[in-house]
Amino acid sequence: MIYRRTPNIVTKIFGKLTWNIPVKDNSLYLTFDDGPTPDVTQWVIDELDKYSAKATFFCLGRNVDRYPEIYNSIISSGHAVGNHTYSHLKGWETGALEYIHDVELASTLIDSKLFRPPYGRIRPVQAGLVARRFNLVMWDVLTGDYNNRQTKDECLQNTRKMIKSGSIIVFHDSVKAESNLKYVLPRILEEYSEKGFKFRSIEY
Ligand SMILES: [Zn+2]
Repeated sequence: MIYRRTPNIVTKIFGKLTWNIPVKDNSLYLTFDDGPTPDVTQWVIDELDKYSAKATFFCLGRNVDRYPEIYNSIISSGHAVGNHTYSHLKGWETGALEYIHDVELASTLIDSKLFRPPYGRIRPVQAGLVARRFNLVMWDVLTGDYNNRQTKDECLQNTRKMIKSGSIIVFHDSVKAESNLKYVLPRILEEYSEKGFKFRSIEY
C-alpha cells in the first residue's frame, strides 16, 4: 500500500482498522516502526523528551530479541509499544497460520494489544485472526522517511501537508530511514508544539 493519505474507500473496506483518532483537542500520534534499532531508537526517545512528547513504537520481535535494553528504554521513557510481527512478514505472501504464529512469537516479547501489519499489507483472513487479540492500528500520514528518492525537504513538506488533528503519523526508527527521520522529526516536533499540538501515545 503506497497511499500517502488513505482514501476513504480503503477506510470503509477495512472498517475495523484504526486510521486516525477522533479528538477534540490538537493531539497528534507519532508512531515509529521496525525498531528497536541501536542508536536510532535512543535518538528518537531523546528528541521526544525535549518536547515531553509521547509516541508509540511498533517493534519487531526479532529486534526486541536482539536489543532488549533498547526496548526497555522505550518502556521506561513512558512510550507505548505495539506488535509489528517477529520477522516483518508480508501478509499477502504468507499463509494465515504462519502469519499468526509470527505475531504470537512477537507477543511473547512485546506486551501490547496494538498491532500494525508490516507494509500495511494484511489479508482479511489474517486481519480477522489478529483482531481477536489486537487493535489494528494503521495511519493517515505516511512520511515516507524510508524513501531516499525524495529529498529531506520533500519528506518534510509532504508530511506537513497531510497532518491534521488526530493524525497517526508513521516514521521508522530504522537505519534505512535514519537520514530523513533525523531531518524531519525535530522540525515536526518544534513546529507543531509551537502551534499548540500535543503528541500522545496510542492508549488502547
Ligand atoms: Zn515495518
